[in-house]
Amino acid sequence: MERLDFAVIGAGPAGLFCAIHAAGQGHRILVLEKMETPARKLLLAGSGQCNITHEGGVENFPAHYGEAGTFLKPALLAFSNHDLIRFFHERGLDMEVREDGKVFPATRKSSDVLSLLISACEKQGVALSFGEPVTGIEKEQGGFRITTARNRYHASCLVIATGGASYPVTGSTGDGYRFAAGMGHTVTEIAPALAPLLIQEFPFSDLAGMSFPRMHFSVWRNRKKLFHHTGDVLFTHTGLSGPGILDCSRNIRSGDIVRLSFTNGECHEGFRRLFLEQSAAQGTHRVTSVISDYHIPERLVKRILELASIPLEITCAHLSRQHRRALVSSLTGYPLTVDALGDFSVAMVTRGGITRDEVNPKTMESRIVKNLYFAGEVLDRRV
Ligand SMILES: Cc1cc2nc3c(=O)[nH]c(=O)nc-3n(C[C@H](O)[C@H](O)[C@H](O)COP(=O)(O)OP(=O)(O)OC[C@H]3O[C@@H](n4cnc5c(N)ncnc54)[C@H](O)[C@@H]3O)c2cc1C
Repeated sequence: MERLDFAVIGAGPAGLFCAIHAAGQGHRILVLEKMETPARKLLLAGSGQCNITHEGGVENFPAHYGEAGTFLKPALLAFSNHDLIRFFHERGLDMEVREDGKVFPATRKSSDVLSLLISACEKQGVALSFGEPVTGIEKEQGGFRITTARNRYHASCLVIATGGASYPVTGSTGDGYRFAAGMGHTVTEIAPALAPLLIQEFPFSDLAGMSFPRMHFSVWRNRKKLFHHTGDVLFTHTGLSGPGILDCSRNIRSGDIVRLSFTNGECHEGFRRLFLEQSAAQGTHRVTSVISDYHIPERLVKRILELASIPLEITCAHLSRQHRRALVSSLTGYPLTVDALGDFSVAMVTRGGITRDEVNPKTMESRIVKNLYFAGEVLDRRV
């Protein structure tokens, strides 16, 4: 049986980062990864561009984690967003801050983030084993016995960094919850979070892939407006996704109405007036060409006209009042009914997990089992 100082289960960003920082001082560290290649979820992050952190003072971060903020504060202060940016910069990967404050690698490639983490592991002497799923862990004299599909190890310290249960194709299938529960930990109910919306009879499925930066949209329940939001929205085959939608998804339920504004935030009344003036001044022009002045993609304009039963060739002078009303309403607040939120197969993260009360927030060590640690999404960061 191979003897280790540290074993880390999971070569996602949390496991790799943890191994890099635990390395040195002659420690024998092994990261065990179930998949043939590491950090598959990291490669998908930020649509392959990897939104790594956010700009601003780290002291403001805990507030964004709701109830979990107090738990996460010591970790966030001990290694801040600025420390993270410096970590990458010192190893040759610069970060850039986007207009909205999100921080990405300058190369906009999550694969560069991963390459750097792997190379830092190798430089620090961390051993990595891919395609080696951990099947069981047990407490034994002086540490832990770890059983994998092809080996057995004894480790003095063990880190569970197996991620959540969303996007299981990446390898994150919730194994860590089972391991932790076996060690006596409580696992709170888990649910998909940051999930796309499935829309009833979605009329724009063939426009899947079309994206709308900083789109304005509102969410309605029982005819009452719940909230308004501005963010990037993406059409999928089955509904809506993109950071703007994902950020709000925890506040959206089946049956809610999402109203999309394609007019760059221009409200119904403002757009109605503008459109009326333009239609009067350009009576012989086609409605489609007048609307394209608002930078709405032509295919979408055509689809909206079709849905409102307005002929595509119609000129402004021939647009009836009823059709104009329908068109203005569609462009400033197209209503889409939410069928359901996407399940674990498409949700970006998992809500719930290993309960925080049983973990020391200063070290992430279990309060139940000495030398057992947790890192990353496996922990309950419920907001
Ligand atoms: C489409 C998408 C886009 C995202 N975009 C962003 C973004 O831009 N910014 C951001 O901050 N977050 C983003 N996220 C979320 C982010 O990717 C995760 O929160 C992050 O990867 C969690 O890191 P982790 O190391 O805790 O877990 P994971 O990345 O899930 O890694 C866990 C690893 O453990 C391995 N493992 C599991 N069980 C075992 C076992 N039994 N034995 C051995 N290995 C095991 C898994 O194979 C996996 O490699 C996105 C997620 C998705 C799905």
